[in-house]
Amino acid sequence: MSSLNPSLPTVDEVTPASPAVVQLPRCICPDPTTHGELGDTVTLATKADLRMTLVANKAIRWLKTENPKASVAEVLAVLTETYVRHFVVAWSLLRREGKKLVPLELNHETIEAQLLSDVECAMLVGEAADQRFNEVILSPLLKAASTSSPDSSTDESTSAPKLNGHSPTSARSKRSLTTSSPTAGIVPTA
Ligand SMILES: [Zn+2]
Repeated sequence: MSSLNPSLPTVDEVTPASPAVVQLPRCICPDPTTHGELGDTVTLATKADLRMTLVANKAIRWLKTENPKASVAEVLAVLTETYVRHFVVAWSLLRREGKKLVPLELNHETIEAQLLSDVECAMLVGEAADQRFNEVILSPLLKAASTSSPDSSTDESTSAPKLNGHSPTSARSKRSLTTSSPTAGIVPTA
């Protein structure tokens, strides 16, 4: 009766469940001739799970503890690097084992050695990850920052992210990133 309502879309239909595949402009395998002209692909997680969300939140908290004057740009940069380090779930990279090519293991060391070391490719993955995860990762932080004030009430409007008049989605536009700081609300006014 109330448990199944066929007129309501399932969660999968509402959220884009397709993994984000980022096409790189070249092969970044340990042996770059592996894919010739064909670029490698890096696949980001479909959505941020608990561990990914915690890693991202703790990375920001660590930065703000280490450097309370960290700028919004620095916070966003740490976040993007965290995505590249922790939100990649698959890639096309191969390594040579004897005469065979075998998939290159995806772990902290290989991500650092093959992806983070290539700034152009890491930026591509980072930008795709920003678009996919910034909103979901930053929204709770913005909410926490805006509700931490003593006079916060149950009023919905007080818990809305403070984005200097921009909606959270406008953070995707490059213009709003340069002209204002959509994430200024996450910086605690200590
Ligand atoms: Zn390759």
